[in-house]
Amino acid sequence: MKFNLDTAELFVPDGLSAAQALARTTHLCFAAHQDDIEIMAAEPILKCFQRKDLWFTGVVVTDGRGSPRDDLYKDYTDEDMRVVRFIEQKKAAFVGEYAAQILLDYPSKAIKDGSNKQAVEDIVKLLKATRPQVVYTHNLADKHDTHVGVALKVIEAVRQLTKEEQPQQLYACEVWRDLDWMTDNDKVSFDCSAHENLQMALVGVFDSQICGGKRYDLATMGRRKAHATYFASHGTDATTGLSFGMDLTPLMADPTKDAGAFVQEFIQRFAQEVADRIGMLR
Ligand SMILES: [Zn+2]
Repeated sequence: MKFNLDTAELFVPDGLSAAQALARTTHLCFAAHQDDIEIMAAEPILKCFQRKDLWFTGVVVTDGRGSPRDDLYKDYTDEDMRVVRFIEQKKAAFVGEYAAQILLDYPSKAIKDGSNKQAVEDIVKLLKATRPQVVYTHNLADKHDTHVGVALKVIEAVRQLTKEEQPQQLYACEVWRDLDWMTDNDKVSFDCSAHENLQMALVGVFDSQICGGKRYDLATMGRRKAHATYFASHGTDATTGLSFGMDLTPLMADPTKDAGAFVQEFIQRFAQEVADRIGMLR
């Protein structure tokens, strides 16, 4: 498969041909950086693990060159960091038994530029080659510009597909801002109770990101546990790990719907819920 950048890579952990590996995909995730997939999309990775009929494919859009670095990695050049992060992402794909792992290698600035359509073209190509049931990406209330940039490009891409080519669902997930603030009716809940050992391994392979003192591994597992316990104030925990998603399927189904206005609707429902509770108790 040919992407816009010659340096893009496609890795198939079990060695199947690229076309076959992509065609078996049922769950597809588009993320900004190496490790975002494992932070936000553990549920579909686990759902597809050791299955013959369900396959997870991960796509990382940016190159990892601008990564913060410390400790072992403190003297690494941008190119060294890119190489390390590509290897770490492939390790995760191997551990998680992904159908395929794609690294599109765009600089972050290309993703933060709304007029740059190169990544959108690659995303369309991947959606057509994989025809997944469910697509995952970053949420529109995330506080990292590159994450929101990826989400907007994915929305643009799914809108270029025919109805038959579109996935059944488009979900937006948590990295740089969780979705606990959304009203419970708006939350899509992903049960991450199974295979805690694999979940820890998946976030644990990204040593270059954790080594400098950012414990994404512990924080990610902690967030899942906190969500499981704090989801319902009455009754015992139904899960031991939970992630939340925002359902972006309406944005895919109706191309006239504005992404900015759509995410404001979630914020308005949250604001209303807070106001209603205080009004009721006063
Ligand atoms: Zn990221």
